[in-house]
Amino acid sequence: MSAVPEGWTLFYSGKVRDLYRSDEHEGRVLMVASDRVSAFDHVLEPGIPGKGALLTSLSLWWFAQLDVPNHLAPHDSVPDAATELPASAMLVTTLDMYPVECVVRGYLSGSGWLEYQQSGSVCGVQLPAGLNDGDRLPEPIYTPAWKAPLGEHDENITFERTVELVGAEAAAALRDTSLAIFRAASAIAEKRGIILADTKFEFGADPATGELTLADEVLTSDSSRYWDAALYETGNRTASFDKQIVRDWLAAHWDKTGTPPELPAEIVERTAARYRELIERLTGA
Ligand code: ATP
Ligand code: MG
Repeated sequence: MSAVPEGWTLFYSGKVRDLYRSDEHEGRVLMVASDRVSAFDHVLEPGIPGKGALLTSLSLWWFAQLDVPNHLAPHDSVPDAATELPASAMLVTTLDMYPVECVVRGYLSGSGWLEYQQSGSVCGVQLPAGLNDGDRLPEPIYTPAWKAPLGEHDENITFERTVELVGAEAAAALRDTSLAIFRAASAIAEKRGIILADTKFEFGADPATGELTLADEVLTSDSSRYWDAALYETGNRTASFDKQIVRDWLAAHWDKTGTPPELPAEIVERTAARYRELIERLTGA
């Protein structure tokens, strides 16, 4: 794997991704997806070999499937960086990001299921009574979260709260675009026997044009819950194509205090295989 090209300096490290900038290329960010894996808000050891490259290739594939403006920068706009980008890297336009995580759910699961059990609704969206964990919703719902500063938990919010945060026009555009992308992506995944249960998008405004632009990673197994449709039919609603294997192992071997234990090689390999399987199923590659 090639390294980050010369002249790009690290300026931000999230739990999973590293962002680089270059004085010579104002307005561009090099986003590098690492092999780090996080669960229960901890970064675990060791990483999953190949994960960063796999998830980046999945993002790029989805950007190409979706008919919506995205943040990918043409490589020829940065000639020296374009020559040898690592497979885990994406060259993007720096956007003015909206502080909203645009979550869409087609199925009830995870934090949505927890909230529904308490209130019968998710992020202010009222749902029919009597739903079970993993049930398909009558139609996809938009359940935004506020993007908390580093180290704090993102917080589920109502649509009305997003209007206060970003204004009525942008809030409506974020919601409508998120739902439209979710529907399009679900249909594509379904044809391949994969259920897109839920996902999270991030958007920004293009600083030059103000255009609403899809950013971040998109529809990867870090940002989305995917299920095998055939297994789902048989009643299995937990075999997701993500780090579920890691989460299950940790839940059984760690009491969530102190430093998490090191992942065994077998768990690492099974997780890597799961990421590969999702990409093969979706993209046919
Ligand atoms: P976490 O580890 O909880 O995910 P994080 O979201 O801050 O924290 P990353 O997802 O690793 O960390 O980092 C990606 C960051 O880059 C996010 O803050 C995201 O909003 C931002 N981002 C994504 N696309 C763009 C873009 N085109 N322009 C500017 N910032 C972007
Ligand atoms: Mg993030």
